[in-house]
Amino acid sequence: MSGREKIPRGDEPVKGRRSAVLETDILIIGSGFGGSVAAARLTEAGRDVVVLERGPWRDTLPAASMNVRDRIALPRASWLQTISKSLSTFIGRRLTRARGIPFNRRHGMLEISNHRGLVSICTSQVGGGSLVWGGMVSRPLSPDYWDGRAEGVSEEIMAPHFDRVINEFEVASFAPSEPGPVNWAKELGDLEWLDFSVDAGARWAHYFPGSGEKATHPLGIQRASSQFAGHLSLGCLDGSKASTDSIWLGPAMARGLKLISSCEVTRVLRTDDGYLVYAERTGGELKLQVRCRNLLMGAGTSNTLRLLLEAEKRGDLESMPALGQGISGNGDEMALLWNVKADKQEEIRRGLGSLFHLRSGSREVLHGFLELDLPRPRWRILRRLLRPLLNSLIVIGMGPDGSDGKAGLVGRRLQIDFDAASTSANRTGRSENREVAKRLGIKALFFPKAVTVHIFGGARVGASANEGVVNGDGECWTNPGLFVVDAAAIPEAPGRPPSLNITAWASHVAERIASREPARNTTAVQADVSALLARADRRQLAALFSLLLHDPEQSGDMAGTWQALLLVRVQSRCPRRLQMEIEQVSETLDTLKPSAGALPGVIPVSAWDGSGLCWQWRGTSSEQLTDIQFRPLPDSDRMLARVRQHDGPEGWYLLNRES
Ligand SMILES: Cc1cc2nc3c(=O)[nH]c(=O)nc-3n(C[C@H](O)[C@H](O)[C@H](O)COP(=O)(O)OP(=O)(O)OC[C@H]3O[C@@H](n4cnc5c(N)ncnc54)[C@H](O)[C@@H]3O)c2cc1C
Repeated sequence: MSGREKIPRGDEPVKGRRSAVLETDILIIGSGFGGSVAAARLTEAGRDVVVLERGPWRDTLPAASMNVRDRIALPRASWLQTISKSLSTFIGRRLTRARGIPFNRRHGMLEISNHRGLVSICTSQVGGGSLVWGGMVSRPLSPDYWDGRAEGVSEEIMAPHFDRVINEFEVASFAPSEPGPVNWAKELGDLEWLDFSVDAGARWAHYFPGSGEKATHPLGIQRASSQFAGHLSLGCLDGSKASTDSIWLGPAMARGLKLISSCEVTRVLRTDDGYLVYAERTGGELKLQVRCRNLLMGAGTSNTLRLLLEAEKRGDLESMPALGQGISGNGDEMALLWNVKADKQEEIRRGLGSLFHLRSGSREVLHGFLELDLPRPRWRILRRLLRPLLNSLIVIGMGPDGSDGKAGLVGRRLQIDFDAASTSANRTGRSENREVAKRLGIKALFFPKAVTVHIFGGARVGASANEGVVNGDGECWTNPGLFVVDAAAIPEAPGRPPSLNITAWASHVAERIASREPARNTTAVQADVSALLARADRRQLAALFSLLLHDPEQSGDMAGTWQALLLVRVQSRCPRRLQMEIEQVSETLDTLKPSAGALPGVIPVSAWDGSGLCWQWRGTSSEQLTDIQFRPLPDSDRMLARVRQHDGPEGWYLLNRES
């Protein structure tokens, strides 16, 4: 294979201040539903796992309770923020750039791709789609969905994975009479032609009121019970909706999972003993090469496909004959119902949405109302003006479509061809959405193309290399050690909310990988640390910091006298105070051994920095709450410390142990 000849020799130390090599047993690309579950299962099995996620951590209650640094706000505080910071990337049909037009790659959460016959929406952040999903949980429509797909997978094999994931989601059903998601039957005036009780299999992954004011995970990860407001498509602030960061990633990080956020994978290729992956931190401040034995694709359908198609085209991976086949949009059809006023109410009650059938309609196609979830302007006059939009709802229809779309590359850009008009699920969904609007007497805006938030396929499970890209264990037929754990592997539209199906699949694949012997099980970093430190700015230091491994044994040996050298200070109006903090910490370190846990203010296990646990000191000095996080450097008696006072100033220090 020609690609293998091009591989740089990764055994040599990386020269240059902007690059590093990471070696690990298992690398997962993407931290959405598929990537997170696989990461959690494999970490639990004692494997060394690294996750690279292109998006940032969001400023949510669970992430804050983990003390994750560099949290980026969800774009929901104001309209200005929503407009300027919601969109990450737009990928148009006629654009030549592979990765589309970057609107706001650092903050933006939505990636919109315009394909032939289909518009698809996905996200960019730690947790992927789980931060914006509606929380509707359902098994596929067909009861024998997983039977007969490939050897090694069946309904019976998948059943324990479904059960485990349902348990982890803590799904709840709700009675329409109870407080909970909007009971639209009541809100809209008990409409006999809508059947809200039908889909008994669909439930909700939310903390309902009454499930505790602040549910706290044993590790201190917090989630609040649902207020049924402000937690849908612009992200959930309070963690009341199940998201992968609180359920799987946080606990896995406590067990040693390393997650590097804001780090986009740009190329994957096969080597003689595994895979080599190229990645870049957002802003390009650090380039990364990761060598791994097993590579798990969890970047979501579109991005997994783009990476695989590019790799195949370049000869970086062996050919995959079925790659790009069997794309589905889950029969999604959406329309905007304009200014839905509930019976005699000024404003509709806000909620999550609800699932329903039309009594006289198809049982295959399931509909849902989803609120738009836009911020409420503070000024009354603006609220009045915008009320029709704020009161608008999305009506969605979904069902098993033909799963016969095709994906390929035009230049380096992903192009999907899907003919929604020819699938009966889409046609029925669209006409029933129209009927809903007509019967309600509400103006509806129909999108010219099918818009989907549920895109699958392209790297499907199949019985042979001609029928699918991966086998029943999720492993690529033609590239051993390469697995697909996200929606791209889903063999056919489930016709129902799909995330339960994706997570159960990822859980199954991870179990299969965990049953094999690890080839090597130590994650190591090779980087020219001195070069990085010598001329680093804050962003480069942050990138280096998140690469360094948390090694509890090394952290336990921090006793001694330490000298601090200030590397970079940001926004600092009080440099002396920061310097004092470091001196105080030096004293703390001096007395640290052997009882780190007994010292007040030293939090060795419950602090995350977004890339795993790190050793942390928190204390008050000059009436300022100050966090100091440490990572021992791999090469000598040195540590990197990040000092942050809660009113803003931040400093980066290099600590040297005095001999
Ligand atoms: C508004 C909305 C509402 C939804 N509601 C529901 C619902 O109620 N029920 C339901 O079941 N489903 C729902 N979904 C669908 C659900 O979110 C998706 O099906 C699911 O997230 C797909 O999971 P995944 O693991 O395949 O990918 P994703 O969750 O999309 O995760 C992929 C991750 O990979 C990252 N990534 C991509 N490319 C790269 C790269 N090159 N390098 C590194 N990282 C990368 C992305 O940033 C992302 O975090 C909804 C989706 C949306 C958008």
